[in-house]
Amino acid sequence: MHHMTLAEIARGLADKKFSSEELTKALLARIAQLDPQLNSFISLTEELALSQAKAADARRANGESGALLGAPIAHKDLFCTKGIRTSCGSKMLDNFKAPYDATVVAKLAAAGAVTLGKTNMDEFAMGSANESSYYGAVKNPWNLEHVPGGSSGGSAAAVAARLLPAATATDTGGSIRQPAAFTNLTGLKPTYGRVSRWGMIAYASSLDQGGPLARTAEDCAILLQGMAGFDPNDSTSIDEPVPDYSASLNGSLQGLRIGVPKEYFGAGLDPRIAELVHNSVKALEKLGAVIKEISLPNMQHAIPAYYVIAPAEASSNLSRFDGVRFGYRCENPQNLVDLYKRSRGEGFGAEVQRRIMVGAYALSAGYYDAYYLKAQKIRRLVKNDFMAAFNEVDIILGPTTPNPAWKLGAKNSDPVAEYLEDVYTITANLAGLPGLSMPAGFVDGLPVGVQLLAPYFQEGRLLNVAHQYQLNSDWHTRTPTGF
Ligand code: GLN
Repeated sequence: MHHMTLAEIARGLADKKFSSEELTKALLARIAQLDPQLNSFISLTEELALSQAKAADARRANGESGALLGAPIAHKDLFCTKGIRTSCGSKMLDNFKAPYDATVVAKLAAAGAVTLGKTNMDEFAMGSANESSYYGAVKNPWNLEHVPGGSSGGSAAAVAARLLPAATATDTGGSIRQPAAFTNLTGLKPTYGRVSRWGMIAYASSLDQGGPLARTAEDCAILLQGMAGFDPNDSTSIDEPVPDYSASLNGSLQGLRIGVPKEYFGAGLDPRIAELVHNSVKALEKLGAVIKEISLPNMQHAIPAYYVIAPAEASSNLSRFDGVRFGYRCENPQNLVDLYKRSRGEGFGAEVQRRIMVGAYALSAGYYDAYYLKAQKIRRLVKNDFMAAFNEVDIILGPTTPNPAWKLGAKNSDPVAEYLEDVYTITANLAGLPGLSMPAGFVDGLPVGVQLLAPYFQEGRLLNVAHQYQLNSDWHTRTPTGF
């Protein structure tokens, strides 16, 4: 049962081949058996899952239908789940039970999705390897000695290992697309404002966006459909109608203009990945796409700008964790300052503390103009590059990551080396654009992703291109040995 995609599950449930309860029990058993190798879950929600599965079966028996009705999923552990631990991968929130459901969680529950648990993640979504979690590193099912990518590494490893068909994730600088690439999944970061951030614990509010991680574009369409839409509780949520994403999958690619930025192929890109990217370009050309070389001249400035803006916003967002209102509180504080200092010093891990310090520094009087304001100006230039490119092309294509998944621990002593791995993904967050990563081959047995970027609100176009590619390739069907 565990090999089925969301689309196959929906058909099976509709045809009464199995019930949601049977499927849920089978997947919970599989998680119990296999997850100790991966560490992809922080919490399992068996009771909730079984009651949701039974309710979904009853709704189907009453004649209701829907692609997510009875479909098992999991949530990255930064989506608030009422009455259930929502840890954000941090000691700070180890004892935090959210008092309400995030909009994404509530919407998916209303559509009938079954929540199997909460997935592991980098602490406060800061990282590209899922090694900064208070609950320990997540392992890549393709090679247990390698990282699964981050920060949504738990969602990615669980879906890649067929513990469940799909999961929610979030992407501030690549955390959906990069783990998708590292684990042979399809992952979509929507346009900023497409998916509500209400109840999604904030890292960098102007960059964070929730989205789906699944094996196929077809499944991403199904999950995104359940997540997207205007939410009056999120002032940055955009009041645009949500198209039928599954209906967008089958468009022809004849005449589609694909831009390939020349800056993507500079030093630092593994040449074997470059070759796989070129192969995917050729495959899309065969389907009728027209390829054009383009330029994104400000791309080189994006990483330094991001690593000022994201920590700046994080330093502000994370000031709410003060030992008074949420989560961890130190023992026997001597006074208020001691309470703040030790609660935060003991509750946050090293990477989170580093980001808070960098962010507070960049925002402080005297440095604001030199760092934060400068970074915001670069952000505009990055956006302008994309706007100019999208006057000429419909889609931008390139590698998702410069290298395949590295070995656990390989970059622990050098945070900047890890930051540099985000070179292809963070520009979409700076500009607020939608981006998708899809499986495109293997290097040394490790998966490689190709990234597609589109203009605002063109998630359907991304899914269409990825689906057509997947109808003509089989990379996304490969399964890691042992799973
Ligand atoms: N690796 C990036 C960071 O550490 C992106 C993380 C994310 O998208 N949440 O900030």
